[in-house]
Amino acid sequence: MYISIDIGGTHTRVARGEKDQISQRTDFPTQDFPETLQKIKTSVLNLSSNKQIDGIGVSVVGPLNFVEKRLLRPTHLPNWEGVEIKKELESALGRQVFIAHDAATSGYGEWKYGAGKGSNPLLYYTISTGIGIGLIVDGKIFHGVYNIEAGHQILDKTGPLCPCGQHGDLDIFLSGKEVEKRTGKSSKELEGSETWDEMIDRLAIGITNSILHYSPEKVVVGGAQTHNQPLFYPPLERAVAQYLKHTPIVPILPSQFRDNSGLIGAFALAEDKVA
Ligand SMILES: [Zn+2]
Repeated sequence: MYISIDIGGTHTRVARGEKDQISQRTDFPTQDFPETLQKIKTSVLNLSSNKQIDGIGVSVVGPLNFVEKRLLRPTHLPNWEGVEIKKELESALGRQVFIAHDAATSGYGEWKYGAGKGSNPLLYYTISTGIGIGLIVDGKIFHGVYNIEAGHQILDKTGPLCPCGQHGDLDIFLSGKEVEKRTGKSSKELEGSETWDEMIDRLAIGITNSILHYSPEKVVVGGAQTHNQPLFYPPLERAVAQYLKHTPIVPILPSQFRDNSGLIGAFALAEDKVA
């Protein structure tokens, strides 16, 4: 039995299970670090209920200095700046944890068990509280020093200011929280509207840029804002096909594990003892 922990900008989820199966999970709002750490500890104890734990995998929101396993200043969790996340979790849980950036972890889960199984390279995009990117090359997560942060690629230098400090990047145009602040509507309420079309168009430019950078075999797109599949994927694929002229388009697929991709990916990190 494995434990996975998915620390997101809005919610933290803890689950037990293995491979692509979750047998039980719990979910709570992500608060400041000490409160969240305490809740993670309690959840792990409750979920394991004295059974043998084979490994713990952790998916954490970025930006993350992967080399030092230390958070920089997460755009949507500014109070978590500087947290030495691996060290803190290992000390609280009393054992080794395998940790990676959240989008990279989700991408790894989709590469190992899901929609991008075996693709080389696999590019993963999550459209949720923020925009995250994962890249799996030769079956391994490409971490870089700070992971790929193409969610903050600049699309329009005169655009609105992102909490990360840049103007007009993909994240500020698309992130659920920011769009809600700007329009007063949730992304669910915006589905199919003119604003929605603009968001799909921005995303298509971002994904086209990433395809040109990384030459993936497949692109898997997941996250809370992709739930309405007929309104999301066909227009996105059409828009990418319109922008991408230099190479043929590659398949753009919905994530198989949806909200659970971070948890499944974290099982995979622990199973393979990677990160
Ligand atoms: Zn940004």
